[in-house]
Amino acid sequence: MCYHFAENFIYPVFRLFVYFLLPSISAIYIFNWWYSDIYVTKKYRSKGHSWRSIQSPKSIPYNTLCSVCGRLMMSAVGEFCERCALSACRGCKKLSEKNNPCRVLSISPNEPFLHHWVKVGAVCEDCNLSTDTDVGYDFFCCWCQQIKHFSTGEPSKDEVCNFGNSRSMIIPPSQVKISRTGQISVTPPDWDDWQPIILVGNPISGGGTGDEVLSLFRGLLNPIQVVRLSKKGLQSALNWIPSSARIIVAGGDGTVSAVVSTITNMNIADRPPVGILPLGTGNDLSRVLGWGGSCPAPLSPFKFLNDIRNATVQPIDRWSVTVGRRKLFAYNYLSIGVDARVALDFHRARLHPLYLRGSQSINYLIYLCLGTQQVLSQDCHGLEKLLELHMNNNVIALPPLQALLLLNIPSWGAGVDVWNAGADQSVAKQSMNDGKLEVLGINSSFHIAKLQIGLSQPIRLGQASSITIKIKNRVPMQVDGEPWEQNPCEIQVEQMGTALVLSKTSD
Ligand SMILES: [Zn+2]
Ligand SMILES: [Zn+2]
Ligand SMILES: [Zn+2]
Repeated sequence: MCYHFAENFIYPVFRLFVYFLLPSISAIYIFNWWYSDIYVTKKYRSKGHSWRSIQSPKSIPYNTLCSVCGRLMMSAVGEFCERCALSACRGCKKLSEKNNPCRVLSISPNEPFLHHWVKVGAVCEDCNLSTDTDVGYDFFCCWCQQIKHFSTGEPSKDEVCNFGNSRSMIIPPSQVKISRTGQISVTPPDWDDWQPIILVGNPISGGGTGDEVLSLFRGLLNPIQVVRLSKKGLQSALNWIPSSARIIVAGGDGTVSAVVSTITNMNIADRPPVGILPLGTGNDLSRVLGWGGSCPAPLSPFKFLNDIRNATVQPIDRWSVTVGRRKLFAYNYLSIGVDARVALDFHRARLHPLYLRGSQSINYLIYLCLGTQQVLSQDCHGLEKLLELHMNNNVIALPPLQALLLLNIPSWGAGVDVWNAGADQSVAKQSMNDGKLEVLGINSSFHIAKLQIGLSQPIRLGQASSITIKIKNRVPMQVDGEPWEQNPCEIQVEQMGTALVLSKTSD
């Protein structure tokens, strides 16, 4: 009976799954992964223009009519240039590129700088309704962002553009030189109050939101002010930035720390301060500085640029973390144990080709599942036996724990103020620029969950300005959200100056 049931039902279903469903599901996932990569990197760049589907989010106006054939563009075939607002249907794109150059990124400083007009409106409605024969069009200057109506049909070709409201934050093309190898250099203009804003971000962070965010700012600033980051070459991607600049990092904690470290290491008199457009899953520094725990939705790029201009510059302690021969910098926290294990599993899941790049909610779900798994597996049990902790040269006796945390900021694990959690008497004040780290222990994943809802206290081990940790066995650890598995070694944590960050002033 059982045999027949297996023969007639289970095996065919199993075969159907193995031969048909599994390959199709894999194919869909692999296509999703491959296509998202191609879409982000190559598909739409051509002759200076950077084409996107008209369905994508926009910060600039666009013409619903094709700039060549004049037909109403259907959403499936309509495209616009995220840099200059030119619109065309897919079939006419090549021809429109020929007749309409994109924004120039660099011109001779002796040339007058003129408006760059792009037709963005259909025939003006008012003109159409009036009995007048005068019929005109709306044009948009992609540098000063003004929309102007020209009744003659064509804008004048010799009007000087002064960059409008963007003047104080934009890098004018007359100040830019681009070498043959693509290396940029900028000479600051002698304008009062000039603080160009540079946005740096990784297009694949935030489950692909990074790409959309970078796109929104390319329409508002000089496109060179939007820097696409890859792990390699952070230094060379940022070494041209003027010292009067303000920087926005669009990304998670790891990207923010990497950019802050690169800027702080740069050999310039004034280091540009860094603000955050949060795209990661933790965003602890972003929360503390008032930029929030997730990307504002809907994002208003012009308002965000103004918030960055009005933000307050503040110093943050920079901690050098020497792990064996390796040296890193931490601004947020360092941890060893169960929370680093969860971060590490999540990090590995993210590198997997089947990982869904498009969905932040599914990624949170994966994160939650991995956390729950740790509660069950308890694999950091007895961490206190694997570590030796010295604070300001004193050995500290460790109670049973599963995670050891060193905090610089009052936020950890996506917004938990763990140092002050559940405090019933006064605890030592925590500050991000007092030259001290808060050292504390957590005894289980369950303890983390209770801390998150304020039902428990951490094991407060004290504050210190110099910390040594001897690791006697392989353990997971993380610095500012970048996790790895660490072999036995000695870790030295010391303050090494400060970095400058931007804290949002309330609206
Ligand atoms: Zn363009
Ligand atoms: Zn067309
Ligand atoms: Zn203009």
